Amino acid sequence: MIRDRTLGARDKLVDRLPVTGELLRGTLLERTVRHKSGCPKCERGEGHRVFVLTVSYPGGRTRQLSVRRERVAEVRRWLANYQELKEAIEAICELNHDLLRPETAASKGGRKKRD
Ligand SMILES: [Zn+2]
Repeated sequence: MIRDRTLGARDKLVDRLPVTGELLRGTLLERTVRHKSGCPKCERGEGHRVFVLTVSYPGGRTRQLSVRRERVAEVRRWLANYQELKEAIEAICELNHDLLRPETAASKGGRKKRD
C-alpha cells in the first residue's frame, strides 16, 4: 500500500536524521574593514578581512556576530549541519503531506477528485 511505503520511507529518513548539537543558522559573510587613518595595512590598500555571521529573524530583524578566523571552518561545518538537518526535516514533512491525504484518494491511481 502507498501508505505503508510512505511510512517506510519516513522511518528511513528518521533513522538517518543528522542530529547534532553543532548547528548554526545564518550566512557567513566575508568583509574587508578599512581604517580611515593610522593603519599601515589599510594605507597600502589591503584592509583587514573579517568574517561575520548574519542571522535573520522573523519580522526582518537581523543579528550579526563576528567570527574569528580560526573558527571559520567550524562555523561552516555547523552551518552545513543545519542545512542538512533542515533538508531532512523538509523531506519528512513532504511525506507527511501524503499521509494526510485521504486513503481512498491515494489508491485511485493518482486521480484527484475535487468537490
Ligand atoms: Zn587597518
